[in-house]
Amino acid sequence: MELGGGSSNKIKGKASEGNIMEQFPVTALPEDIQAYVAECVAANSVADLYRLRATCKSMKELIDRAGIYAALDGVHVFYTFDLQDEGLALIKRAADAGFECALYTYAMTLKVFWDNEEHFSGFTRESFERIGKIVRSIEWGCGKSHAVAFLVKTYEFISKVMPLFYNCQCTPWLERNWDLWHIKDNKGKNLCDRCFWIKELGLFYRDFKPIIYLF
Ligand SMILES: [Zn+2]
Repeated sequence: MELGGGSSNKIKGKASEGNIMEQFPVTALPEDIQAYVAECVAANSVADLYRLRATCKSMKELIDRAGIYAALDGVHVFYTFDLQDEGLALIKRAADAGFECALYTYAMTLKVFWDNEEHFSGFTRESFERIGKIVRSIEWGCGKSHAVAFLVKTYEFISKVMPLFYNCQCTPWLERNWDLWHIKDNKGKNLCDRCFWIKELGLFYRDFKPIIYLF
């Protein structure tokens, strides 16, 4: 992938003859900037990340090293193909590399499938909301969505956990717009801790759709 030219500091790429527009190869940037570009691309479109990774060997190595691709791959392996051990290992690899979308996905995956909340403590409410919004809005493409295991967990959540939210004193759920399944991301600044995490889980079950990308 190449960024279009236009600045006076353009670096001339290997444009073929007849290609008037000079281009700026991403690989000419410092490596940490390249990693940042890759993270931005990943947050915007998984399809573009696949294309970026396919552009050259050094970009493939950079994306794999940064763990970004591992996180996306892990999500597909875990959620779509239902290969939990392999998928979780890939997501963890990306989380260990510090990729914050992977940290969120790893924490949520442990909670959803093993009721393990240990990684929630690494987030503030604000950071969890902010990153969750990004992860849930990633454009994953179209095709097959969740394997059965996640759908089973979703039904369990609706039947067993959501009632706790509605029964808590902190929740003005009788007011309009408090139906948990249709709640807006920004609602609930005054929720108690338990209801805050229930709301975040509800948003995850509702909006996280790791649909495998079809080329
Ligand atoms: Zn509450």
